[in-house]
Amino acid sequence: MFDTKILGTDEDSINYAAELLKRGEVVGIPTETVYGLGANAFDETAVRKIFSAKGRPADNPLIVHVSDTEQISELTLKVPPLALECAKRFWPGPLTMIMPKSNRIPTVTSGGLDTVGIRMPSHKTARAIINSCGFPIAAPSANLSGSPSPTTAQHVFDDMNGRIPAIVDGGMCGVGVESTVISFEGENGIRLLRPGFISAEDLKEITPNVLIDKGVLEKLGENVKVRSPGMKYKHYAPKADVTIIDGTLDDYRRYVKDHSDSDTLCMVFEESDCKEIDLPFICYGKTDEKQARELFDALRELDKRGAKKVFARCPNKNGVGLAVYNRLLRAAGFQVVKLR
Ligand code: AMP
Ligand code: MG
Repeated sequence: MFDTKILGTDEDSINYAAELLKRGEVVGIPTETVYGLGANAFDETAVRKIFSAKGRPADNPLIVHVSDTEQISELTLKVPPLALECAKRFWPGPLTMIMPKSNRIPTVTSGGLDTVGIRMPSHKTARAIINSCGFPIAAPSANLSGSPSPTTAQHVFDDMNGRIPAIVDGGMCGVGVESTVISFEGENGIRLLRPGFISAEDLKEITPNVLIDKGVLEKLGENVKVRSPGMKYKHYAPKADVTIIDGTLDDYRRYVKDHSDSDTLCMVFEESDCKEIDLPFICYGKTDEKQARELFDALRELDKRGAKKVFARCPNKNGVGLAVYNRLLRAAGFQVVKLR
Protein backbone atom coordinates (compact mmCIF):
# COMPACT_ATOMS: atom_id res chain seq x y z
CA MET A 1 0.00 0.00 0.00
CA PHE A 2 1.26 3.48 -0.88
CA ASP A 3 0.40 6.76 0.74
CA THR A 4 -0.49 8.26 -2.67
CA LYS A 5 0.86 11.83 -3.01
CA ILE A 6 -0.66 14.47 -5.28
CA LEU A 7 2.11 16.49 -6.90
CA GLY A 8 2.01 19.83 -8.72
CA THR A 9 3.55 20.66 -12.10
CA ASP A 10 6.45 22.79 -10.81
CA GLU A 11 10.03 21.76 -11.55
CA ASP A 12 10.57 20.04 -8.19
CA SER A 13 7.42 17.96 -8.61
CA ILE A 14 8.38 16.97 -12.16
CA ASN A 15 11.86 15.96 -10.97
CA TYR A 16 10.36 13.96 -8.11
CA ALA A 17 7.95 12.17 -10.48
CA ALA A 18 10.88 11.40 -12.82
CA GLU A 19 12.89 10.08 -9.84
CA LEU A 20 10.08 7.67 -8.97
CA LEU A 21 9.87 6.53 -12.60
CA LYS A 22 13.65 6.01 -12.75
CA ARG A 23 13.35 3.84 -9.64
CA GLY A 24 10.85 1.63 -11.50
CA GLU A 25 7.70 2.99 -9.85
CA VAL A 26 4.38 3.86 -11.47
CA VAL A 27 3.14 7.48 -11.54
CA GLY A 28 -0.18 9.05 -12.59
CA ILE A 29 0.59 11.59 -15.32
CA PRO A 30 -1.55 14.24 -17.00
CA THR A 31 -1.74 14.25 -20.81
CA GLU A 32 -3.95 16.21 -23.19
CA THR A 33 -6.16 13.13 -23.77
CA VAL A 34 -6.71 11.46 -20.37
CA TYR A 35 -4.48 10.79 -17.33
CA GLY A 36 -1.99 7.99 -17.89
CA LEU A 37 -0.45 5.45 -15.54
CA GLY A 38 3.20 5.73 -16.52
CA ALA A 39 6.28 3.54 -16.08
CA ASN A 40 9.60 3.02 -17.87
CA ALA A 41 8.61 1.31 -21.15
CA PHE A 42 11.93 -0.58 -21.20
CA ASP A 43 11.62 -1.95 -17.65
CA GLU A 44 9.56 -5.17 -17.49
CA THR A 45 9.20 -5.13 -13.73
CA ALA A 46 7.98 -1.53 -13.74
CA VAL A 47 5.54 -2.23 -16.58
CA ARG A 48 4.11 -5.23 -14.71
CA LYS A 49 3.26 -2.87 -11.87
CA ILE A 50 1.01 -0.92 -14.26
CA PHE A 51 -0.93 -4.05 -15.15
CA SER A 52 -1.36 -4.99 -11.51
CA ALA A 53 -2.35 -1.45 -10.35
CA LYS A 54 -5.06 -1.33 -13.04
CA GLY A 55 -6.09 -4.96 -13.01
CA ARG A 56 -5.45 -4.87 -16.76
CA PRO A 57 -5.45 -8.12 -18.77
CA ALA A 58 -1.85 -8.99 -19.77
CA ASP A 59 -2.74 -9.20 -23.49
CA ASN A 60 -3.90 -5.57 -23.69
CA PRO A 61 -0.85 -3.61 -24.94
CA LEU A 62 0.32 -0.26 -23.58
CA ILE A 63 0.97 2.88 -25.59
CA VAL A 64 4.59 4.06 -25.46
CA HIS A 65 4.97 7.83 -25.05
CA VAL A 66 7.94 9.71 -26.48
CA SER A 67 8.97 13.37 -26.39
CA ASP A 68 10.85 13.45 -29.68
CA THR A 69 10.14 11.92 -33.13
CA GLU A 70 13.78 10.73 -33.24
CA GLN A 71 12.97 8.20 -30.51
CA ILE A 72 10.75 6.09 -32.77
CA SER A 73 13.63 4.57 -34.74
CA GLU A 74 14.93 2.91 -31.56
CA LEU A 75 11.49 1.50 -30.72
CA THR A 76 10.54 0.13 -34.14
CA LEU A 77 11.90 -2.23 -36.80
CA LYS A 78 10.50 -0.29 -39.68
CA VAL A 79 8.77 3.08 -39.90
CA PRO A 80 6.23 3.29 -42.74
CA PRO A 81 6.65 6.52 -44.76
CA LEU A 82 3.02 7.38 -43.99
CA ALA A 83 3.84 7.26 -40.26
CA LEU A 84 6.45 9.96 -40.73
CA GLU A 85 3.91 12.10 -42.57
CA CYS A 86 1.39 11.59 -39.78
CA ALA A 87 4.00 12.43 -37.13
CA LYS A 88 4.89 15.62 -38.96
CA ARG A 89 1.28 16.62 -39.22
CA PHE A 90 -0.27 15.47 -35.92
CA TRP A 91 2.57 15.21 -33.37
CA PRO A 92 2.84 16.27 -30.70
CA GLY A 93 -0.82 15.36 -30.27
CA PRO A 94 -3.45 12.69 -29.66
CA LEU A 95 -2.44 10.16 -32.34
CA THR A 96 -1.03 6.69 -31.60
CA MET A 97 0.61 4.78 -34.45
CA ILE A 98 1.09 1.01 -34.44
CA MET A 99 4.38 -0.18 -35.94
CA PRO A 100 6.54 -3.33 -35.85
CA LYS A 101 8.42 -3.26 -32.53
CA SER A 102 12.16 -3.51 -31.97
CA ASN A 103 13.75 -5.70 -29.28
CA ARG A 104 14.04 -2.64 -27.04
CA ILE A 105 10.32 -2.99 -26.23
CA PRO A 106 9.68 -5.91 -23.85
CA THR A 107 6.74 -8.11 -24.82
CA VAL A 108 5.12 -7.27 -21.47
CA THR A 109 4.76 -3.69 -22.74
CA SER A 110 3.33 -4.78 -26.10
CA GLY A 111 0.89 -7.26 -24.55
CA GLY A 112 2.69 -10.13 -26.31
CA LEU A 113 2.32 -8.55 -29.78
CA ASP A 114 5.20 -7.94 -32.19
CA THR A 115 4.02 -4.38 -32.71
CA VAL A 116 4.12 -1.26 -30.55
CA GLY A 117 1.80 1.76 -30.34
CA ILE A 118 3.71 5.05 -30.11
CA ARG A 119 2.53 8.55 -29.38
CA MET A 120 4.07 11.94 -28.63
CA PRO A 121 1.79 13.85 -26.25
CA SER A 122 1.45 17.62 -26.55
CA HIS A 123 0.89 18.16 -22.81
CA LYS A 124 3.75 20.27 -21.46
CA THR A 125 4.05 18.39 -18.18
CA ALA A 126 3.92 14.95 -19.82
CA ARG A 127 6.73 15.98 -22.18
CA ALA A 128 8.77 17.48 -19.32
CA ILE A 129 8.48 14.22 -17.37
CA ILE A 130 9.52 12.07 -20.38
CA ASN A 131 12.46 14.42 -21.05
CA SER A 132 13.55 14.35 -17.45
CA CYS A 133 13.46 10.52 -17.42
CA GLY A 134 15.38 10.06 -20.65
CA PHE A 135 13.41 6.91 -21.52
CA PRO A 136 9.99 6.45 -23.17
CA ILE A 137 7.04 6.01 -20.85
CA ALA A 138 4.50 3.24 -21.28
CA ALA A 139 1.13 4.47 -20.10
CA PRO A 140 -2.43 3.22 -20.38
CA SER A 141 -5.31 5.30 -19.05
CA ALA A 142 -4.98 5.67 -15.25
CA ASN A 143 -8.33 4.09 -14.34
CA LEU A 144 -9.08 0.69 -12.88
CA SER A 145 -9.61 -1.69 -15.79
CA GLY A 146 -13.22 -1.42 -17.00
CA SER A 147 -13.91 2.02 -15.43
CA PRO A 148 -14.23 5.29 -17.34
CA SER A 149 -10.86 6.89 -18.17
CA PRO A 150 -9.75 9.64 -15.76
CA THR A 151 -9.79 13.25 -16.94
CA THR A 152 -8.83 14.84 -13.58
CA ALA A 153 -6.25 13.99 -10.89
CA GLN A 154 -9.18 13.37 -8.52
CA HIS A 155 -10.51 10.65 -10.87
CA VAL A 156 -7.06 9.01 -10.77
CA PHE A 157 -6.97 9.29 -6.98
CA ASP A 158 -10.46 7.75 -6.71
CA ASP A 159 -9.24 4.65 -8.60
CA MET A 160 -5.55 4.48 -7.63
CA ASN A 161 -5.34 5.68 -4.01
CA GLY A 162 -2.94 3.32 -2.21
CA ARG A 163 -1.95 1.53 -5.43
CA ILE A 164 0.68 3.98 -6.73
CA PRO A 165 3.11 6.37 -4.99
CA ALA A 166 2.15 9.62 -6.77
CA ILE A 167 -0.13 11.47 -9.18
CA VAL A 168 0.93 14.66 -10.98
CA ASP A 169 -2.04 17.04 -11.00
CA GLY A 170 -2.05 18.91 -14.32
CA GLY A 171 -5.69 20.01 -14.09
CA MET A 172 -8.52 18.82 -16.31
CA CYS A 173 -7.52 17.14 -19.60
CA GLY A 174 -8.15 19.35 -22.63
CA VAL A 175 -9.26 16.62 -25.06
CA GLY A 176 -10.91 14.21 -22.63
CA VAL A 177 -11.02 11.01 -24.75
CA GLU A 178 -8.06 8.71 -25.38
CA SER A 179 -5.85 9.07 -28.44
CA THR A 180 -6.79 8.04 -31.96
CA VAL A 181 -5.13 4.67 -32.67
CA ILE A 182 -4.14 3.77 -36.25
CA SER A 183 -2.20 1.10 -38.08
CA PHE A 184 -0.84 1.13 -41.62
CA GLU A 185 -1.93 -1.10 -44.51
CA GLY A 186 0.14 -1.51 -47.67
CA GLU A 187 1.83 1.56 -49.12
CA ASN A 188 -0.78 4.19 -48.42
CA GLY A 189 -3.60 2.84 -46.29
CA ILE A 190 -4.55 3.80 -42.75
CA ARG A 191 -6.80 1.66 -40.55
CA LEU A 192 -8.58 3.53 -37.76
CA LEU A 193 -8.62 1.19 -34.75
CA ARG A 194 -9.85 3.62 -32.13
CA PRO A 195 -11.36 7.03 -32.95
CA GLY A 196 -10.14 10.07 -31.02
CA PHE A 197 -9.63 13.81 -31.36
CA ILE A 198 -7.67 13.31 -34.62
CA SER A 199 -10.64 12.29 -36.73
CA ALA A 200 -11.00 10.07 -39.80
CA GLU A 201 -11.59 13.28 -41.74
CA ASP A 202 -8.25 14.69 -40.47
CA LEU A 203 -6.45 11.47 -41.49
CA LYS A 204 -7.95 11.66 -44.98
CA GLU A 205 -5.83 14.76 -45.53
CA ILE A 206 -2.81 12.42 -45.43
CA THR A 207 -4.32 9.65 -47.61
CA PRO A 208 -7.81 9.05 -48.99
CA ASN A 209 -7.49 5.38 -47.98
CA VAL A 210 -8.71 5.54 -44.41
CA LEU A 211 -10.58 2.43 -43.34
CA ILE A 212 -12.64 2.45 -40.16
CA ASP A 213 -12.10 -0.88 -38.42
CA LYS A 214 -15.24 -2.92 -37.78
CA GLY A 215 -14.54 -2.93 -34.03
CA VAL A 216 -15.08 0.85 -33.81
CA LEU A 217 -18.85 0.63 -34.16
CA GLU A 218 -19.69 -3.05 -33.71
CA LYS A 219 -19.49 -5.53 -30.93
CA LEU A 220 -17.00 -8.13 -32.08
CA GLY A 221 -17.86 -11.82 -31.80
CA GLU A 222 -16.09 -14.06 -29.28
CA ASN A 223 -13.84 -15.71 -31.85
CA VAL A 224 -12.97 -12.71 -34.00
CA LYS A 225 -9.27 -11.86 -34.03
CA VAL A 226 -9.11 -8.22 -32.97
CA ARG A 227 -6.46 -5.89 -34.29
CA SER A 228 -6.52 -3.73 -31.18
CA PRO A 229 -6.94 -5.95 -28.11
CA GLY A 230 -8.40 -3.09 -26.04
CA MET A 231 -11.52 -3.21 -28.21
CA LYS A 232 -12.63 -6.61 -26.99
CA TYR A 233 -12.76 -5.71 -23.29
CA LYS A 234 -15.64 -4.28 -21.33
CA HIS A 235 -15.00 -0.58 -21.05
CA TYR A 236 -16.09 2.65 -19.43
CA ALA A 237 -18.98 0.85 -17.84
CA PRO A 238 -20.96 2.63 -15.14
CA LYS A 239 -23.10 0.48 -12.83
CA ALA A 240 -26.28 1.78 -14.45
CA ASP A 241 -27.99 0.16 -17.39
CA VAL A 242 -27.33 2.73 -20.15
CA THR A 243 -29.26 2.88 -23.44
CA ILE A 244 -28.38 5.26 -26.29
CA ILE A 245 -31.41 6.78 -27.98
CA ASP A 246 -30.42 7.44 -31.60
CA GLY A 247 -32.86 10.00 -32.97
CA THR A 248 -33.82 13.68 -33.03
CA LEU A 249 -34.46 15.65 -29.84
CA ASP A 250 -38.20 15.13 -30.35
CA ASP A 251 -37.65 11.36 -30.76
CA TYR A 252 -35.62 11.38 -27.54
CA ARG A 253 -38.26 13.26 -25.53
CA ARG A 254 -41.03 11.01 -26.79
CA TYR A 255 -39.09 7.82 -26.09
CA VAL A 256 -38.17 8.90 -22.57
CA LYS A 257 -41.78 9.87 -21.76
CA ASP A 258 -43.02 6.48 -22.96
CA HIS A 259 -40.34 4.30 -21.36
CA SER A 260 -39.20 5.99 -18.15
CA ASP A 261 -39.97 5.04 -14.57
CA SER A 262 -38.93 6.35 -11.16
CA ASP A 263 -35.40 4.90 -11.63
CA THR A 264 -34.68 6.70 -14.91
CA LEU A 265 -31.98 9.34 -15.30
CA CYS A 266 -31.49 11.32 -18.54
CA MET A 267 -28.04 11.87 -20.01
CA VAL A 268 -28.44 14.82 -22.35
CA PHE A 269 -26.47 17.51 -24.17
CA GLU A 270 -27.96 20.49 -22.32
CA GLU A 271 -30.60 21.29 -19.71
CA SER A 272 -33.25 22.37 -22.23
CA ASP A 273 -33.24 18.84 -23.74
CA CYS A 274 -35.16 17.80 -20.63
CA LYS A 275 -37.86 20.48 -20.95
CA GLU A 276 -41.19 19.01 -19.80
CA ILE A 277 -39.49 15.80 -18.70
CA ASP A 278 -39.70 15.59 -14.96
CA LEU A 279 -36.68 13.37 -14.35
CA PRO A 280 -33.16 13.88 -12.97
CA PHE A 281 -30.55 14.53 -15.65
CA ILE A 282 -26.84 14.97 -16.36
CA CYS A 283 -25.57 17.17 -19.20
CA TYR A 284 -22.48 16.09 -21.09
CA GLY A 285 -22.05 18.96 -23.51
CA LYS A 286 -23.48 20.70 -26.54
CA THR A 287 -20.60 20.39 -29.02
CA ASP A 288 -18.60 17.32 -30.04
CA GLU A 289 -15.48 18.76 -28.38
CA LYS A 290 -17.28 19.51 -25.12
CA GLN A 291 -18.79 16.02 -25.08
CA ALA A 292 -15.32 14.52 -25.55
CA ARG A 293 -14.08 16.58 -22.60
CA GLU A 294 -16.99 15.79 -20.29
CA LEU A 295 -18.18 12.28 -21.18
CA PHE A 296 -16.00 10.34 -18.73
CA ASP A 297 -16.76 12.70 -15.86
CA ALA A 298 -20.47 12.29 -16.63
CA LEU A 299 -20.12 8.49 -16.61
CA ARG A 300 -18.38 8.64 -13.21
CA GLU A 301 -21.12 10.98 -12.00
CA LEU A 302 -23.76 8.37 -12.88
CA ASP A 303 -22.23 6.02 -10.30
CA LYS A 304 -21.93 8.75 -7.68
CA ARG A 305 -25.64 9.47 -8.11
CA GLY A 306 -26.49 5.79 -7.90
CA ALA A 307 -28.14 5.87 -11.34
CA LYS A 308 -29.89 2.62 -12.29
CA LYS A 309 -31.42 3.21 -15.70
CA VAL A 310 -30.05 5.83 -18.08
CA PHE A 311 -31.32 7.07 -21.43
CA ALA A 312 -28.49 8.88 -23.25
CA ARG A 313 -28.83 11.22 -26.21
CA CYS A 314 -26.78 10.00 -29.16
CA PRO A 315 -23.62 11.94 -30.16
CA ASN A 316 -22.71 12.73 -33.77
CA LYS A 317 -20.95 9.92 -35.56
CA ASN A 318 -18.42 11.98 -37.46
CA GLY A 319 -15.41 14.14 -36.55
CA VAL A 320 -14.64 14.01 -32.83
CA GLY A 321 -18.23 12.85 -32.32
CA LEU A 322 -17.25 9.39 -33.56
CA ALA A 323 -14.84 9.07 -30.61
CA VAL A 324 -17.58 10.10 -28.17
CA TYR A 325 -20.03 7.65 -29.76
CA ASN A 326 -17.45 4.82 -29.68
CA ARG A 327 -16.90 5.30 -25.90
CA LEU A 328 -20.58 5.78 -25.07
CA LEU A 329 -21.43 2.68 -27.09
CA ARG A 330 -19.14 0.61 -24.85
CA ALA A 331 -20.46 2.29 -21.70
CA ALA A 332 -23.93 1.26 -22.89
CA GLY A 333 -22.86 -2.32 -23.60
CA PHE A 334 -23.88 -1.63 -27.26
CA GLN A 335 -27.55 -1.02 -26.33
CA VAL A 336 -28.92 1.43 -28.89
CA VAL A 337 -32.54 2.24 -29.75
CA LYS A 338 -32.55 3.43 -33.37
CA LEU A 339 -35.32 5.92 -34.10
CA ARG A 340 -33.99 7.31 -37.38
P1 AMP B 1 -5.34 2.77 -23.16
O1 AMP B 1 -3.89 2.85 -22.86
O2 AMP B 1 -6.14 2.39 -21.99
O3 AMP B 1 -5.82 3.99 -23.85
O4 AMP B 1 -5.43 1.60 -24.20
C1 AMP B 1 -4.51 1.54 -25.27
C2 AMP B 1 -5.21 1.12 -26.52
O5 AMP B 1 -4.28 1.04 -27.60
C3 AMP B 1 -5.83 -0.27 -26.37
O6 AMP B 1 -7.09 -0.27 -27.00
C4 AMP B 1 -4.85 -1.15 -27.08
O7 AMP B 1 -5.46 -2.30 -27.57
C5 AMP B 1 -4.31 -0.24 -28.18
N1 AMP B 1 -2.95 -0.62 -28.55
C6 AMP B 1 -1.80 -0.32 -27.90
N2 AMP B 1 -0.74 -0.91 -28.49
C7 AMP B 1 -1.23 -1.62 -29.53
C8 AMP B 1 -0.65 -2.49 -30.52
N3 AMP B 1 0.64 -2.74 -30.54
N4 AMP B 1 -1.49 -3.06 -31.43
C9 AMP B 1 -2.80 -2.81 -31.41
N5 AMP B 1 -3.42 -2.01 -30.49
C10 AMP B 1 -2.64 -1.42 -29.57
MG1 MG C 1 -7.95 2.62 -21.08
